[in-house]
Amino acid sequence: FPTRRSSDLRLIALVGVLAVVVLGYMAVTNETSGPDLQDPAQMSEVSTTVKPTLGFIDDERIKNAESEPGNWLSFGRTYEEQRHSPLTQINRESIEGLGLAWYKDMGTNRAQEATPIVVDGIMFFTSSWSRVYAIDAKTGEELWMFDPKVPGEVARKACCDVVNRGVAVYKGRVYVGSLDGRLIALDAATGEEVWEVDTIIDRTRFYTVTGAPRVANGKVFIGNGGAEFGVRGYVTAYDAETGEQMWRFYTVPGDPSLPFEHPEMEMAAKTWKGGNWWEFGGGGTVWNTIVYDPDFNSLYIGVGNGSPWTRIIRSPGGGDNLFLSSIVALDADTGKMKWYYQTTPGDNWDYTAVQDIALADMEVDGEMRKVLLQAPKNGFFYVLDRSDGELLRANPYATVTWASHVDMETGRPVENPDMDYTEKAKWVLPGPLGAHNWQAMSVDVDAGVVYIPAQDNPLIYGVSEQLKKTGVLKHEPGRWNTGIEFGRVTKMFVDNIADQPTPKGYLKAFDPLTGKDKWSVEIPHYWNGGVLSSAGGLVFQGDALGMLKAYDSDTGEVVWEFNTYTSMLAPPITFELDGVQYLSILTGSGGGDLFGGEPLPPVAEHASLTYNNYGRLLVFSLGGTESIPVPSVRDRSIPAQVVNASVTDIAAGEIVYNEVCAVCHGLAVRSGGSIPDLRRMSEGTHEIFNQIVLEGLLSARGMAGFGDTITEKDSTQIHAYVRARAEQDRLYAAGEVELPQLTWLSN
Ligand code: CA
Repeated sequence: FPTRRSSDLRLIALVGVLAVVVLGYMAVTNETSGPDLQDPAQMSEVSTTVKPTLGFIDDERIKNAESEPGNWLSFGRTYEEQRHSPLTQINRESIEGLGLAWYKDMGTNRAQEATPIVVDGIMFFTSSWSRVYAIDAKTGEELWMFDPKVPGEVARKACCDVVNRGVAVYKGRVYVGSLDGRLIALDAATGEEVWEVDTIIDRTRFYTVTGAPRVANGKVFIGNGGAEFGVRGYVTAYDAETGEQMWRFYTVPGDPSLPFEHPEMEMAAKTWKGGNWWEFGGGGTVWNTIVYDPDFNSLYIGVGNGSPWTRIIRSPGGGDNLFLSSIVALDADTGKMKWYYQTTPGDNWDYTAVQDIALADMEVDGEMRKVLLQAPKNGFFYVLDRSDGELLRANPYATVTWASHVDMETGRPVENPDMDYTEKAKWVLPGPLGAHNWQAMSVDVDAGVVYIPAQDNPLIYGVSEQLKKTGVLKHEPGRWNTGIEFGRVTKMFVDNIADQPTPKGYLKAFDPLTGKDKWSVEIPHYWNGGVLSSAGGLVFQGDALGMLKAYDSDTGEVVWEFNTYTSMLAPPITFELDGVQYLSILTGSGGGDLFGGEPLPPVAEHASLTYNNYGRLLVFSLGGTESIPVPSVRDRSIPAQVVNASVTDIAAGEIVYNEVCAVCHGLAVRSGGSIPDLRRMSEGTHEIFNQIVLEGLLSARGMAGFGDTITEKDSTQIHAYVRARAEQDRLYAAGEVELPQLTWLSN
């Protein structure tokens, strides 16, 4: 191939994979509706076995979770959230006999990300659309299902698909946060709703909840997401019994003309200078990690990125913009701050610190310390003292170009001036997907190693054209408001192709104290699943290629694998029942198409694109002999198009598409497998394109109308661009053109 061709292939790969993301997805052809509910009469006929009975789960029981290794009592297994199981029946020697015991089709082709809770023979977990399931963990029989009936159009408010990361189980209740921002308490025995509260402070803003609630001391804790759209972050504690609000901690200051909600906001406000951040909400959402520490009665919250991303808008006078990208320790009873550590002062890159936090007791420099461990997006692995937040280590665990290192004297990263993108767009590592994201890591304290699903995945960052031209950024409700140029990003890729770092994925055994890899395995796709390790000497992970693998924890050698034919993001868990150890994982990627559009080499194609995004629960045990159906490769032919529009219109459509549609449907209209690929729309769908896009004809299926933020002219131009991209890729696939045309923007 001529050089230009291979670089364009790389470009397409990157365009397809670009992290960023989007608003609604246009559900057109590929959507499964909700799960088929079993007929109740039929169910009672099959239920001849004795159903498991849930014991009482209180604080003491979760605190002593280590004494019942057969259960998986809370999000990260115990309050320490290390995700390292002491079970050893499945081990390096026996792994050969591991097979599928049973599986359950979840009736969804949207992403599944939950960590199941397994207790007393019952498994509690969430699927897409915040649906909650209780099943017999031995047989897979459904005990109950609760559907919070999230309206389909809410999907538009989620950056990263209609996902949910799980429930908390406590004192006879199951707690779930729904995508539309409710916290709901269910009766653990029946699945009936006991109470629900609205956790959202401002319904005019695009808040969503995807994280798992945490429970301790009679309280339930929950945060939310939405920083890309423009929201203000906070975390709230509710009375577990009644749902009454106990306290709320805001992570960033609000409108300066209003009083501070709590004293920490007065302190934080001094670090925001001269901007109109509150119009954008400021960001700092707590959308994932919230960890309770019984040793100090603390709650550690991981705080997200700034809104907008660019600090020159939020805070043109400089300043750290507390508590963005920080780990904040709160008193679990009162919500008062004990200490904080900011990983990325003055965040400028979407570097959230919301990635899973684990707690441990470790010897550091000859002294036993109670530490907190985190691998946030920014590429540095932090070891902090839990008693006071003292920084003990900050070693890079992936390729980092935005900063040279963390100064251990000041505790601050030293930014790399060559990577300043204010004047000229720059490829930066990590990109907004982070060097590690919400896919769980695990910690083996005895081995002194953390297992991280890491990646080197860049973005070309450039200040938005609007901002460059006018010096101001206008908050546009219902859209991403980042201050970063996304409308012309395909053009930026093409123009800067020569400098593009190749996206790569890894599973790493990383020593957080020395900063060295014990081993590192490269995976052909960067966007892979969470991790579980075990005392059986094994590390488990599901990857983008659909392979669930077991690695030898000493060497990184693959010792077992199972083809699920579906990409995975969720972490595996393990539990034991009646003397049998089980391994379990939810399949189905997404999060999504946003992150994983259709790639070309060197990034391998992910399974959910090749086959389909099969939402399943898989459960394995030694001697398991069950199998899943082998799917056929999906038909991805593109119908011929009549492109009846001017280049000017197509170019205009490209900008709006990238700003509004690409997050879900993929950049360059290359969808990743779970959200419909618009290049393959039928002519019938083409005919009602504007009704779908503007009026929300398919909103019940997740494709809300966008008539509030785009005009009919915009929609028509988007349509022209979609047709033009489809025709280019069809001609390329047919060998009729040497290169697909990726951008219609001349300048
Ligand atoms: Ca973000």
